[in-house]
Amino acid sequence: MPKVVKQYCPKCKKHTDHEVERVKTRPRSELKAGQRRFRRATAGYGGFPRPKYEGRQKPTTKIPLRYRCKVCKKAHQKTCFRVKKFELVEA
Ligand SMILES: [Zn+2]
Repeated sequence: MPKVVKQYCPKCKKHTDHEVERVKTRPRSELKAGQRRFRRATAGYGGFPRPKYEGRQKPTTKIPLRYRCKVCKKAHQKTCFRVKKFELVEA
């Protein structure tokens, strides 16, 4: 996948050059409601609140990408896709 792609920018309302960057998972904030609920659920006896995943492992991984417009510097995300291997290349 190229590092720069031309696509529609919702802010400029036209096609412009966009820089592609991979979205990295951030460390979860301990103050967010979901994480507090998760901490309460895992505390004490009882263990993990969700059932263990059964079944085969998926052969592909989801690639979340962020597109940053070069004109207005606004970023937007599109629906991510699944691939086995992903890399960003120049030009
Ligand atoms: Zn723009």
